[in-house]
Amino acid sequence: MSLQAVRGTKDILPPEIEQWHAVEAIFRDVAREFAYDEIRTPIFESTELFKRGVGEETDIVGKEMYTFEDRGGDSLTLRPEMTASVVRALIEHSLLRHSPVMRLWYAGPQFRYDRPQKGRYRQFHQFGAECVGSPNPESDAEIILVAYETLRRCGCSAFTLEINTLGTQSVRQQYREQLVAYLRQHHASLSADSQRRVETNPLRVLDSKDERDRAIIADAPSILDVLDDDSRAHFHAVLSLLDVANVPYTINATLVRGLDYYNHTVFEFTTTELGTQNAIGGGGRYDPLFAMLGGGDVPAVGFSIGIERMLLLREHEQGAPSEQERDGVYLCAIGEAAVLPAHALALRLRRQGLRVVTDVMRRSIKAQMKEANRHLVKYAVMLGETELADGTVVVKDLHSTEQQTVRQSELETILLAS
Ligand code: AMP
Repeated sequence: MSLQAVRGTKDILPPEIEQWHAVEAIFRDVAREFAYDEIRTPIFESTELFKRGVGEETDIVGKEMYTFEDRGGDSLTLRPEMTASVVRALIEHSLLRHSPVMRLWYAGPQFRYDRPQKGRYRQFHQFGAECVGSPNPESDAEIILVAYETLRRCGCSAFTLEINTLGTQSVRQQYREQLVAYLRQHHASLSADSQRRVETNPLRVLDSKDERDRAIIADAPSILDVLDDDSRAHFHAVLSLLDVANVPYTINATLVRGLDYYNHTVFEFTTTELGTQNAIGGGGRYDPLFAMLGGGDVPAVGFSIGIERMLLLREHEQGAPSEQERDGVYLCAIGEAAVLPAHALALRLRRQGLRVVTDVMRRSIKAQMKEANRHLVKYAVMLGETELADGTVVVKDLHSTEQQTVRQSELETILLAS
């Protein structure tokens, strides 16, 4: 049996990795402009963190986690999302002791035992950010802007920002009761999944894509009707800040997101261009989470974007990536005597920052020139017997095909000048 990557995982091969580098550079730029610092946390954590932080009744904890016992008997889980890990790290290192607000970003792999399909994997990657310490709507709007700017600069525009509020904890609780009462009246007509969720995680019923459920949800009570003054004021302030920044949005009163820790603002970036995997990213305010993880009363808000899905949308909108630009030098050593000097010359050029490809197959000059073109270098530099004898090299511009003989000592100047 030949060995293959595990179902739901995929290799990112050289041509594609260029796209990853491009968007990663954009993440860094946007994060720097908004003054977010990077955090890297371990890929696995104790299972307890996600049970407490994400919630036992969520799909993630209930059926999607990669949980295993290590050789010491501890229950560990490959992280299915980042917020719980970031909060754990903030509490563990008392990072809020010196600064009332911490702004952090991250990018890295996440693991969920989802049913694989296009845009849905078991190992996928997220870029995200958390703004911790402020209860104010400015930080909700800032987080949404960081996500929005990132998507736009990555070349995505065919998406909608959907936004909603879950209000304060007591509003959410009150709404939950109203919703349960309503859903119980329609119990018999709900899908089996939703019937179960009415008792475990009723807000999640609003996320259902089942046609029968959709009809019932359409007439369900709206959370917007039970908001108290504080919740309403917070929501309107966030929307005003988005208006000022010219960020378009659609209010979706049934948007709840699946996790237990959200309050006030929740949002999602959705697209109609990628079939069923329509969510590119999302997030919200999660003031209760710190207390759930033993970190006291610390308000916070964050988002994450799925990198694979964003790349799918980017390619869909921009078409195939444009041809790579020619870069660097191919150093052709002609004959055995040229091998050592070419080796030394290659290092000299690399130390000047040039990309240098050398021949390690001892091929003919013709084969080496073919390789040079395959590597998309700008120049071929040829070193043979004649050049060795008189301290020169032949430089060929592979774009114009012009060729000149130059002194070896002048080579860097010529190559770097263009
Ligand atoms: P969530 O926290 O579940 O809303 O996930 C945030 C984003 O991560 C989603 O909007 C997706 O873009 C991405 N995502 C979530 N699960 C997967 C998956 N199994 N495969 C690929 N991307 C995913």
